[in-house]
Amino acid sequence: MAFIRSNLVSNQTLAPLSTFKIGGSARLFIEVKTPEQMVLTLQYIKEQRIPLWILGRGSNSLFDDRGFDGIVILNSIRFCHFEGKRLRVGAGYNFSLLGSQTARKGWSGLEFASGIPGSVGGAVFMNAGAGGLETSDSLKEVLYVDSNTQLVEKKKEELRFSYRRSSFHGTQAVIVGATFDLKPSNLAHKRQLVITKKRVATQPYGEPSGGCVFRNPSDQKRAGALIEECGLKGKRIGGAEVSLLHANFIVNKGNATALDVIELVELVRKTVYKKMGIQLELEIQPIPYKGKGWF
Ligand SMILES: Cc1cc2nc3c(=O)[nH]c(=O)nc-3n(C[C@H](O)[C@H](O)[C@H](O)COP(=O)(O)OP(=O)(O)OC[C@H]3O[C@@H](n4cnc5c(N)ncnc54)[C@H](O)[C@@H]3O)c2cc1C
Repeated sequence: MAFIRSNLVSNQTLAPLSTFKIGGSARLFIEVKTPEQMVLTLQYIKEQRIPLWILGRGSNSLFDDRGFDGIVILNSIRFCHFEGKRLRVGAGYNFSLLGSQTARKGWSGLEFASGIPGSVGGAVFMNAGAGGLETSDSLKEVLYVDSNTQLVEKKKEELRFSYRRSSFHGTQAVIVGATFDLKPSNLAHKRQLVITKKRVATQPYGEPSGGCVFRNPSDQKRAGALIEECGLKGKRIGGAEVSLLHANFIVNKGNATALDVIELVELVRKTVYKKMGIQLELEIQPIPYKGKGWF
């Protein structure tokens, strides 16, 4: 286990690794750069029975103020190449960059990704999407390490995807790569620029956040509109604030704690339920300090 011995770190601060910029330290931490390193690391964790959290770019994750009492694996598997019309990408690749790079080169299918600050693995896990398009639309295959620490490749048809959900939820699988089928298009770059411009104008990009806090109850009932109708824009607890630009974002005004965010989430939930009779469900993932064993 030479790879583990030379790369395992103790007490890694997690706040800089999440877009909320919140969180204590991980008891153990390791950065993984290849699928083979991922297999080795998961074999070690399985043997040692250490609680595990898989981290992409932390843009949907809220770490606890105490951190994580287990091991955090930072997925930095970043290969990216075309095989014919198919694009094979490592799960740690920057999803937003992938969207802008492919569109600029005249490939259509991932323009919507431009501006989604996650990793390819996080995007597949969450079936990230925008403007009516989702990651699963152009996805062909997913390469992952299963609970027996074997590398497995499955076609999209063998997996399930729905609104911000995939069959990877609630499993022990760790995504290491994905294949996308893109189509040539002269309009891809133009579309990507329009999408990015709209995003920057309507979402609080300059401030730390975890993206949309709640799932939209339906296409007609958008969480942001419900929260805004309840007069909650600008509502603040400690350093956490309901964004003045987009009410479904909670932004860290500089010194927010995870507890501030959770308390504000509860206040928003209760108010929307009281005034509108609608239970909002979380989209962001609060990560418990005491993680469960992975295997
Ligand atoms: C400003 C802003 C704008 C956003 N806009 C959008 C948007 O338009 N549409 C949208 O859908 N989302 C949006 N998001 C949310 C977020 O970017 C997406 O959910 C993204 O897909 C999360 O990817 P990540 O790598 O950051 O995941 P992380 O936060 O690192 O992880 C999220 C979840 O995925 C799991 N996970 C991550 N990588 C893997 C892997 N390799 N294998 C198995 N599980 C894994 C984690 O364990 C965790 O449960 C936005 C966020 C921000 C901050």
